[in-house]
Amino acid sequence: MNTKVSLQKCESYDKQEVADSIKALLEPLGSMSAFVKKNDIVLIKPNMLSCKEPERAATTHPSVIEAVVRECFDAGASEVWVGDSPPAIFGRTEDFWNKTGFAKATETAGGKMLCFEKDEKANVNFKVFGKEVTASVIKKVFDADVVISLSKMKTHNLTRITGAVKNHFGFIPGFAKALWHKKFTKVNEFSAFVTELARSLPVKLHIMDGIEAMDLQGPASGRVKKNNILIASESPVAVDMGFCKIVGLKPESVPIMKYCKSIGWGPASFNDVDFVGTKVEDCIVKGYIVPPAPPVYLIPDFVLELIRKMIWTGPNLKPNKCVKCGRCKNICPAKAIEISSNGAEFDRTKCISCFCCMEVCPIEAIEMKASPLMSIILKLRNVRNILSRSKKNE
Ligand code: SF4
Ligand code: SF4
Repeated sequence: MNTKVSLQKCESYDKQEVADSIKALLEPLGSMSAFVKKNDIVLIKPNMLSCKEPERAATTHPSVIEAVVRECFDAGASEVWVGDSPPAIFGRTEDFWNKTGFAKATETAGGKMLCFEKDEKANVNFKVFGKEVTASVIKKVFDADVVISLSKMKTHNLTRITGAVKNHFGFIPGFAKALWHKKFTKVNEFSAFVTELARSLPVKLHIMDGIEAMDLQGPASGRVKKNNILIASESPVAVDMGFCKIVGLKPESVPIMKYCKSIGWGPASFNDVDFVGTKVEDCIVKGYIVPPAPPVYLIPDFVLELIRKMIWTGPNLKPNKCVKCGRCKNICPAKAIEISSNGAEFDRTKCISCFCCMEVCPIEAIEMKASPLMSIILKLRNVRNILSRSKKNE
């Protein structure tokens, strides 16, 4: 049986419009009452990646949070908790809650903010390419009767998109996330890790906020792109399939989607999805730019070792922006950053291109840089994509 993916156009973050749109979005899936029952305790996990205002589009918008909390109470929930724990939180939880608008939205709707870093932890065990892995996640993900994910539609330099499947990474609190980047340095390994983690967690409903999305270099400092869309499904893979469909991306070009297909988790292609709600053709977005897959993903290990020095993407400091706060140094899992009198300095021989530093920099002083050879490869790939698109349009 095909998986249902509900699409709903929504043109702004006006609270009433969002509330009506969330209701309409969930209606084809059986409404919120299909997921939340009387007296249930609900945990909602939005994306709180950066300590930034909602209009920067790095985080799930508070209007969406407020509407979903209200829907849960209307369906009979007795308590609704909202929380997330980005890598850069470093004891600044309340600053994040306030700047992103999460605290006000949650409290206005009658919910409670949950500090993931202070919450009890529980271990989850799974295998990644045959290796046993134990990850420590917040215990409330198992204590709650219902868990709802509220992801943000964004791009990512490592995984290309960061959507519903990757939103589960935030159940691992704070800095520990960076250490998993170090353990699984290659994009295919990291994608497998995130997917297996997602498969181990009992999240029932997945909603994506793509009203104002983020593209280009994402996920904390890309371009705000108005996509005017909300997506929902019982399957995170199906939500990401909807993301791909709307922005014109081939699912098999996204490492997480490719891994999901290889293990048979979720819909394998657009043919395995039933789009309901707003017609797909009315939701299509033009000009949403996704970073190319790191070509290292396509190259065998032994060749990679030989050419690693010539082909790389990594962080680079923008001139005169760094305020030497040291957050990038603290988060770097590879200990590849030193702060000198000129600001952050990156050791390319140690860097694993996880881009955690870029995610945590509070003033967007870090950009992605490609080596000269990599730049040529990326340009050639762009030309090839343009040619194949124009061929399709003939
Ligand atoms: S320098 Fe940045 S991209 Fe490189 S390993 Fe450290 S945090 Fe990751
Ligand atoms: S690059 Fe950003 S995070 Fe790193 S020290 Fe400079 S301002 Fe701080």
